[in-house]
Amino acid sequence: MAGRVLLVEDDQTLRQTLTKALELGGYRVVQAESISEGTLRFSEMINCSGTERLDLMIVDLGLPDGDGSSLIRWVREQSSVTLIIISARYDDNSKVNLLDAGADDYLVKPFSFTEMMARIRVAMRHRHQDDNPTSRIYRASGIKIDLQRHQVIRHGERVHLTPTEFKLLERLMLQSGQVVTHRQLLADIWGAEFVEHTHYLRLYMAQLRNKLEEVPAQPKLLITEPGIGYRFEAEFN
Ligand code: CA
Repeated sequence: MAGRVLLVEDDQTLRQTLTKALELGGYRVVQAESISEGTLRFSEMINCSGTERLDLMIVDLGLPDGDGSSLIRWVREQSSVTLIIISARYDDNSKVNLLDAGADDYLVKPFSFTEMMARIRVAMRHRHQDDNPTSRIYRASGIKIDLQRHQVIRHGERVHLTPTEFKLLERLMLQSGQVVTHRQLLADIWGAEFVEHTHYLRLYMAQLRNKLEEVPAQPKLLITEPGIGYRFEAEFN
C-alpha cells in the first residue's frame, strides 16, 4: 500500500537515508528542507489525484525557519493525509500537543527504519479504514470483540460493557496500535468540556481491564502511555 510521501527534514544526511528507506518500502518521496518549502510542496501536491496523490507526510520538528508543529497544524486544517512527526525531542507535553494537533504518530530520533515503516503502515491503515471503521471484528486469545454488534465475548461468554465502557474501547480500537491522548478520549466520549477530567479515564480503564484483561494489573490489551494517554495493542486482531 505504498504511495507518495512528502518528507520535511533539514538534516541532509538523514533526509537522504530516510528517502532511501522509504523508496525501498515502495514509496515515492518528495523532499523539503524547511517549513516554507514543505508548505510549497504540500500546496502543489494536495490537489493531485491517482498515483500523484499525497498519501503521507513526515515532518521533522526542528526546522531552520521555525517549528514543524506549525506546519502540522496548517496541514491538518486542510487535509486528512497521514502525518508522522520525527523529532529529537522527547518530552511528553510536546508529544501530547502534537497528537492533539492532528499528527498520527511520533518517532523520537534515533529510531530504526523497521520501526518507522511499521508505524507508517499502522497509521496509513487507520487513515484508510476511516470510511467504514465499525465493521471490524477483533480476535485474540480467548476474546472476540465485534464493534458492529456491540458484542464482547470472553472465553465463550458474553461480557457486559456499559455504553461508556464500550465507547471508550471502541475509540481506542479504531486507532489500535496508536496512542490516543487523554484529551482526545475525553473530548470524544464525554465532550469538549470534560478534557481535564482524566480521573474519568482512570476509572473506566480500570473497569475495562477488570472485564477484559487476564491480569488487570498487567494489561496486555489496554496499555497505559504514562502522561500521554492509552493505546489498544495492535497485535490484537
Ligand atoms: Ca532538524
